[in-house]
Amino acid sequence: DQCVAQGVPFAREYGGYLDNRSFGGAQVSRTFYARGQTGQQLLLGAYSALSRQVGLGTVKMYERHEILDVVVIDGRARGIIARNMVTGELERHAADAVVLATGGYGNVYYLSTNAKGCNTTAIWRAHKRGAYFGNPCFVQIHPTCIPVSGEHQSKLTLMSESLRNDGRVWVPMKKGDTRKPNDIPEAERDYYLERRYPSFGNLVPRDVASRAAKQVCDEGRGVGASKMAVYLDFADAIKRQGKAKIEEKYGNLFDMYYEITDENPYEVPMRIYPAVHYTMGGLWVDYNLQTTIPGLFAAGEANFSDHGANRLGASALMQGLADGYFILPYTLGGYLGGTQFPKVSTDAPEFAEAEKNVKSVIDRLLAVKGTKSVDYFHKKLGKIMWDKVGMGRNEAGLKEAIAEIRELRDDFWKNVRVLGESEELNQSLEKAGRVADFLELAELMAVDALHRRESCGGHFREESQTEDNEAKRDDENFSYAAAWEFKGVGAEPKLHKEELTFEYCKPSQRSYK
Ligand SMILES: Cc1cc2nc3c(=O)[nH]c(=O)nc-3n(C[C@H](O)[C@H](O)[C@H](O)COP(=O)(O)OP(=O)(O)OC[C@H]3O[C@@H](n4cnc5c(N)ncnc54)[C@H](O)[C@@H]3O)c2cc1C
Repeated sequence: DQCVAQGVPFAREYGGYLDNRSFGGAQVSRTFYARGQTGQQLLLGAYSALSRQVGLGTVKMYERHEILDVVVIDGRARGIIARNMVTGELERHAADAVVLATGGYGNVYYLSTNAKGCNTTAIWRAHKRGAYFGNPCFVQIHPTCIPVSGEHQSKLTLMSESLRNDGRVWVPMKKGDTRKPNDIPEAERDYYLERRYPSFGNLVPRDVASRAAKQVCDEGRGVGASKMAVYLDFADAIKRQGKAKIEEKYGNLFDMYYEITDENPYEVPMRIYPAVHYTMGGLWVDYNLQTTIPGLFAAGEANFSDHGANRLGASALMQGLADGYFILPYTLGGYLGGTQFPKVSTDAPEFAEAEKNVKSVIDRLLAVKGTKSVDYFHKKLGKIMWDKVGMGRNEAGLKEAIAEIRELRDDFWKNVRVLGESEELNQSLEKAGRVADFLELAELMAVDALHRRESCGGHFREESQTEDNEAKRDDENFSYAAAWEFKGVGAEPKLHKEELTFEYCKPSQRSYK
């Protein structure tokens, strides 16, 4: 209702009630949607509501400013240091409390479905100031993305999960089959999700569908030029429902796919492959969304809160909206009402120290004057993370990843070349600061993945699988959220365990068979 009031055009049934559709991981239709653009429409609704408040003068908006540090005075968050990205000027902002809603860190993998600007800087620097980082290795890899087509790419495109309602996922039975998809007869196709998971079929949750796609590609049955793709085929749905119906449901997505791949999905199956999409980890928060630094709150994808090791479709925006509309107004109000706030000025030594800290990172980046671009390091980091801290993780690979990340970080600080100056619009500098932070966060993700020797949700430890290769959980030893305390770059972080107690619903082995 909140979203509808903000103008989100949810799909409706003939009688005017909100319509639902099914999504991965659920066998009933229970997800409200706005054609294939739910996320975007929710964003537009929230953004319009924010703009209205800006117009009314209740919110002051600082566009093109990047938070580069959190200022902590007497143990409480009392402000931030931000860089004006147009002039390069560093600004001090004092406050009674600070809320970080700066999104997820999927771009640590370089390629992801996230916008290019998504990064970890604000939450990572808060972590370095004392905020614990919760479950950093929990990453969602979405099965329905347009496959990587080459080295030139800087991001990946998500095809909506809704497509798995009608599309059937398959690969050829035979390894290395080079026939065109429409030339492969039914009997020689492996609809592997329907075969392995008869009760959920193509609508298994994202982590299960992603791992299954990786598995068939690793077996040599992938399709397309890269052989790292599977088919998502609408031929049956078109035959059953007619082209017009499919166009009505997914026309915008089909057009997008055609624009990107130059292949017509009404005539040939789409090619899809998993891609990094959402990070369930983030700053550890309590039920008030407060981090371990009093007065510092984290909302939305920036915190670790609701999802555990997995996340079903549509629940990210639900969490973000709940955090912002229904939790923070009360818990932040409670904090402000129940706390004494001695007046702080931006002249306080803590502000000066934080600003100096930010400036020293910028100066250091500009002073390296090496020979390799920031993207060179980001791509290398992405490859390590995708190969060793991606869909399948094992002890040897994670140990290698940690060593390689450290090596790459050293190389970055010796050989990166950041163009331009600090007192100007400088995207090379912005990127460099973010990649420097990714290079530290990546190590924590690998450390977290290494210590969690069970498989759970999107975290698949290859050593911990059932006989039929499904994720095997270990609740006896790992029924806790891992909250990591920063102890210095390259130093071993300290693990704090938040035990998880389940009174009514006990965790159990998932089965979609
Ligand atoms: C392609 C795509 C489709 C999706 N579809 C759905 C869907 O249908 N349903 C669903 O539930 N979820 C969906 N998701 C997930 C969901 O959109 C995100 O989890 C959600 O938008 C996160 O919201 P947020 O406000 O926490 O962070 P974001 O939307 O990422 O916003 C963070 C903001 O903080 C800014 N920022 C970052 N760092 C700084 C800094 N240091 N200083 C200042 N500002 C900073 C960023 O520029 C950005 O504006 C989708 C995600 C993607 C990528």
